[in-house]
Amino acid sequence: MGRIYEALQVEEDFIKAMERKEFRLYYQPKLDLVSGKIIGVEALVRWEHPEKGLLPPLEFIPFAENSGLIIPLGEWILRTACLQIKEWQESGYVHMLMSVNLSAPQLYQPEFADKVQQILTETKLTPKFLNFEITEGVMLDAFQAPKVIRELKGLGVQISLDDFGTGFNSFHYLQELPIDTIKIDQSFVQNCYTDLNDGTIVKSIIEMAHQLQMNIVAEGIYSADQLIFLQQNHCNIGQGYLFSKPLPPDELMKQIDNIEQIVIQKGIPQEVSH
Ligand code: C2E
Ligand code: MG
Ligand code: MG
Ligand code: MG
Repeated sequence: MGRIYEALQVEEDFIKAMERKEFRLYYQPKLDLVSGKIIGVEALVRWEHPEKGLLPPLEFIPFAENSGLIIPLGEWILRTACLQIKEWQESGYVHMLMSVNLSAPQLYQPEFADKVQQILTETKLTPKFLNFEITEGVMLDAFQAPKVIRELKGLGVQISLDDFGTGFNSFHYLQELPIDTIKIDQSFVQNCYTDLNDGTIVKSIIEMAHQLQMNIVAEGIYSADQLIFLQQNHCNIGQGYLFSKPLPPDELMKQIDNIEQIVIQKGIPQEVSH
């Protein structure tokens, strides 16, 4: 059995998996680091494989990108995420934001913005509640990226620069593109409290985001020390295992009250101001 056979087999399995609806969206909350309230969620895809169990995205997204299958999968992800946030908004979480990750082949398909518009119309979601997370790696196409991002902004959706600081050209994108939000990569957040350099980098990114009037999100928060450091340095929004892992939708709804206590319990005491 050669490699080509194997690749075809994987492709066949993947297509079957889509038909059998084996992909799942898990949702990880993003919290306001002052009030502790959930302001939105990030959709993170998993494959509930019949034999291998729950597979994380890194085990199949690269294949999906290389084979082009990320296009139909990505469309399913976007539609499912929009329907889910619409449902939550209708059940009372009216301001909740949905973040969806994009891969390069999705962003650069012809008429991607039209497809997004179509899904927004179909799901009746107000565009400003949809946020695309795009890494610097995805922005590499210097000619196409600004064009598509502007088209998306034209629809009224939001754009976040994901894993900020890990790419080659971070500042160039901030200068060139209409970015709403910077997500500080978890590798900087990890040691912000203990490592002086990492702490300085995190502080500087937060400060820069404020100066540029962009939102700032810290990802990968797993300790109270990190939370307190971020609060003290005025990072508005946070995400990480300290608050919640990515969860299936009904599980997240069950946990929501507990999750919203965590910033209050573990962070610095806040003045309640109105
Ligand atoms: P990402 O967009 O940067 O997502 C953050 C990753 O960090 C997620 O991993 C999340 O579960 C994990 N994480 C969150 N909090 C913590 C924490 O406190 N500690 C640690 N160690 N990890 C934390 P996940 O779900 O395995 O996703 C990995 C990557 O796969 C994502 O990175 C994203 O690039 C990609 N991905 C996930 N879902 C999708 C999708 O629907 N479409 C596309 N195109 N890519 C996706
Ligand atoms: Mg992301
Ligand atoms: Mg990230
Ligand atoms: Mg990442």
